[in-house]
Formats: sequence, structure tokens, C-alpha cells
Amino acid sequence: MIVLSGGTGTPKLLRGMKEVADFEVVVNTAEDIWISGNKICPDIDSVIYSLAEIIDENRWWGIRGDSFRTHEALKKLGVDEFMMIGDLDRATHIMRSELLRKGKSLVETTLEVARAYGVKQRIFPMCNEDVASIVVTREGEMHFQEFWVKRRGTPEVLDVYFRGIEKAKIPEEVRRALEKDEEVLIGPSNPITSILPILSVENMREILREKKVVAISPIVGRNPISGPAGKFMKAKGFEVSPMGVFEIYKDFLSVLIVDESDSALVSEKIVATNTIMKNKEDAIRLSEFVLKVFDSL
Ligand code: GDP
Repeated sequence: MIVLSGGTGTPKLLRGMKEVADFEVVVNTAEDIWISGNKICPDIDSVIYSLAEIIDENRWWGIRGDSFRTHEALKKLGVDEFMMIGDLDRATHIMRSELLRKGKSLVETTLEVARAYGVKQRIFPMCNEDVASIVVTREGEMHFQEFWVKRRGTPEVLDVYFRGIEKAKIPEEVRRALEKDEEVLIGPSNPITSILPILSVENMREILREKKVVAISPIVGRNPISGPAGKFMKAKGFEVSPMGVFEIYKDFLSVLIVDESDSALVSEKIVATNTIMKNKEDAIRLSEFVLKVFDSL
């Protein structure tokens, strides 16, 4: 199975999936940003930390029990580091950036970092090229991280686009993995800023039309469980609902899994179960359900 992932909902699921199935992960990189000299790949890091079982489960980013001494020291020196980067988390960013500066690609770098954390699954960035989710607001255009972290997601969103996406290529390793594997899972991630960038790399959508694709809705009822997915879906003209998610994926989707509280939506291509993951057991239960859905296709 190949899993398409962002940095919160899908990593939550992967922590359970690793107990019941083999998979490889293709991760969104449109939220990546250079900060204090290092390249931060927030979604890749969350996937790696989740699979290594060291993720901070309260925030669902960074490393559990991390300290922030370097961040505080930088602040004292007058450096405005707008993301709260933990000391151990920063070690990952330093390792990655050193490899990149030595000329390694993001694919090679990501495989190496994941291996260093003892992760068995192969983790791939969606591309080697730089892509950025740009949020168009009433107050101007800003990088996703500026919108979400610095401005706390408050500006009114008019549109979202992916800067650099025209130059992005599906990495050879991802292409080969997709050729081998029939099953693709889209985890419960933000459909606009986590999954749409991956779908927008070259002919990804066409490739998915040939696959069995199952997706889990990150929207329950009329709201996301967390994060700005609602604002972005609305700005892109989609209903903020599981049906809005279905609409975004409908040209290639085999089945959408919605929460049991939305069971009124069940139809030929929509099935329902409890999709809320409060702990690892919930993630294992949902992963087993996903496997049953694939078996039925
Ligand atoms: P980001 O990169 O940090 O934005 O993270 P993702 O895109 O991977 O995940 C964000 C999405 O995960 C949000 O839209 C949430 O609604 C969804 N999400 C978070 N936790 C859960 C959960 O337990 N169940 C479901 N179904 N969705 C979740």
C-alpha cells in the first residue's frame, strides 16, 4: 500500500497502520520552509516521528519531551524565529540540511533521516523540487507557515496556490513504487494544503485513476477535527463536508471512508466507521477497517 500524507491526521493513522500492514508513504512538501539556516519539512518530520513513536502527541508535531533552549537563546540574541523549534527536532533539520548542502536530493535525504530514526517504512517527499503553498488573503499573499503559525490562521482566505508546482516531478523512486503497488490510501489529511499539492505533481491524478484508491475524510459533519482545512476548502469553492472531500477526489476515488456520525451519506462509494483517533488503539482499529475496504475492492 502507498499512503499519501500530510502532517497530522495521516501520521496519527500510520502509528496504527504500522502494526497491521506494510506500506510506503508519499508526503506533502508544500509546507516546507527554511528557518534559522535549516530546511524544515513539517509533514515529513511528523510522519517519521510518528512511525518512530517519538511524536509529541499533544501538538502532533515535534518530539515528545523536547526542550527549546536554542529557540530561547536565539530570541535573546534578537533572532525572530517564528516557529517554536525544539532542540531535538532541530537536530533532524540540521542533519537534513547538511545532506542537502552536500548535494543529496530531498528523496535521498528523507530516506536517510528516516533510517537514522529506525523507521522501517520508506518515506518519500512528493518531489525533489521546492513547492510552497501560498495563501491569498485580504491582507496579501503569505506562505502557509506564515498564515498558520505567525498569523494563527486568522486572515480571511481568498485562495490557495502552489508556487513552483509546474516544475515539480514525481521522483523516480515514487514512480516505481506506484508501478508496483495497486493500493493507494489517502489518509485523513487536509485535502487542499496537504493532499492537493501531491495530486498536482505532474500526472499524479492520471496515475491514481488506474489504482484502487481509498480516502478517509478529515471532515466530520461540517468541520475538520483540527486545523484550517475548512477555510481552505471554502476558499476553493468546496462544501466543508465529507461530500466536499469526495468532490475533490472523485475522478480517481474508489471509496471514501466517513465518520459513523455521517452514516447518512453511505452509498455505493461511501462507507462509515468511527474515524476519530484519540489513541493508538483507535488508529489500529481504523487501519484494520481500511484493509477490509481494500479487500472488498
Ligand atoms: P497538517 O499537515 O498538519 O495540516 O496535517 P494533515 O493535513 O495531515 O492533517 C490535518 C487534518 O487531519 C485536519 O483536516 C483534521 O481534520 C484531520 N484529523 C486530525 N485528527 C483526525 C482524526 O482523528 N480523524 C480524522 N478523520 N481526521 C483527523
